[in-house]
Amino acid sequence: MVKVDQNKCIGCGLCAGMCPETFVMGADGKSEVIKEEVTTCAKDVVANCPVDAISVN
Ligand code: SF4
Repeated sequence: MVKVDQNKCIGCGLCAGMCPETFVMGADGKSEVIKEEVTTCAKDVVANCPVDAISVN
């Protein structure tokens, strides 16, 4: 499943931009996971999050 550490997320929006089927930006300005399935797209985003807030397993 895909998880975002809300304490690390700085709200850059990159994940929601790269992979909108998995991530949306919440009202608090932080990323939220809307689909926990580990897709290729979600894996790519893990490596690109600037603060390593996303994990997949
Ligand atoms: S890429 Fe990382 S820091 Fe940026 S919004 Fe997504 S989880 Fe937050």
